[in-house]
Amino acid sequence: MKDRGYYEGFGGAYLPEILIATFDELVETFQQAKSDPGFWQEYTDIMSTYSCRPTPLTFAENLTRRFGGARIYIKREDLNHTGAHKANNVMGQGLLVKRMGKTRVIAETGAGQHGVATATMAAKFGFKCTIYMGEVDVRRQRPNVFWMERLGAEVITVREGTRILKDAINESFRDWVTNMDTTHYVLGTACGPHPFPEMVSFFQSIIGKEAREQILEKEWSLPSRIYACVGGGSNALGIFKAFLDDPVELVGVEAAGKGLATGHHAARLSSEDASVGVAQGYKTYFLQDNDGQMKETHSVAAGLDYVGVSPILSHLKETGRIRFEATTDQEVVDALSLTIQKEGLIPALESAHAFAQAFKEASALSKKDIILINQSGRGDKDIFTVADAFADPKWQEFIKEKAEEYHA
Ligand SMILES: *Cc1c(COP(=O)(O)O)cnc(C)c1O
Repeated sequence: MKDRGYYEGFGGAYLPEILIATFDELVETFQQAKSDPGFWQEYTDIMSTYSCRPTPLTFAENLTRRFGGARIYIKREDLNHTGAHKANNVMGQGLLVKRMGKTRVIAETGAGQHGVATATMAAKFGFKCTIYMGEVDVRRQRPNVFWMERLGAEVITVREGTRILKDAINESFRDWVTNMDTTHYVLGTACGPHPFPEMVSFFQSIIGKEAREQILEKEWSLPSRIYACVGGGSNALGIFKAFLDDPVELVGVEAAGKGLATGHHAARLSSEDASVGVAQGYKTYFLQDNDGQMKETHSVAAGLDYVGVSPILSHLKETGRIRFEATTDQEVVDALSLTIQKEGLIPALESAHAFAQAFKEASALSKKDIILINQSGRGDKDIFTVADAFADPKWQEFIKEKAEEYHA
């Protein structure tokens, strides 16, 4: 299968022999579903009754006035069930699991959002569910672990390696190899071996399909630029895909963390620090050292804190179709503050990267230009992370008092 799922040298499926039949079955099921018009209907039906599709497009009047340049629109993926675009992917894969007649799903999760989304889908469809999470992340993301367990998922703490996301991915593959007859691995982003990059971006493409229609209906014109944050790349590809053949500039925004020069960042496509390699079953740009050892990444937004990136994005970087930029933790927290105060919207820290970059560029555009920002998720559900990013002393006091209540 190595010849399939390549995007000009990126991607592929580097698999252990034992998983090849399982991947063939998945590719086959996905291809059939894709060419069955009834399937897309079933998918949009469940997304409109169980999540909140179509999600609205919001005109950000106050931000537009503040920057005095382009008219700013926001695609509201934060209004999905479980608070982010992740629902688009997990519900789609859930329908494929039903088609394959499997009864159990597993997933990896770093920040926990993909774990919560998968556990939610499993509860809804009646699947057994196991979530793999690094020990460090379990400690950092207790609220999400709490919800996964309430939703009936078994959360397995991974104590191997550096005890973060990539170790959880390795454990998920190990589980899959043992249980592939009953089990599907719900990968969380447009990464990993073929067909995951294509499949995940196929489900996420609902974002751009809607947004394109909505902006044409409202403005009778296409946007000049679209901004989306880039972790694994699924929300970015989701909104970009519908505009690839249009004269629209596409901007992917990565995490510059503490600054590109400090090395504490997760900029794979917007810095010189990443190189092409094969890991976790696919070929793409990784933040790795000369020996192929993965580097430590940093971002205030846990969802952008990843060493690899979608092979489809790596390809579109090389062709020049997408421009990649990076914004620092500080710029992101400032952009989040401004958005909350001007529009009453609370983007996730991940999404705020796209806002921060758009804010840097909006004034230089004309009043005739339209820019579209993908708000991939909402920040209020991540109050622990967001409040930490703001270092709010009253919040810290509240947490201290809570802790003391438990000790008493
Ligand atoms: C997980 C997540 C991301 C990053 O994932 P992509 O696959 O790059 O989209 C971005 N925003 C939010 C709100 C997330 O939860």
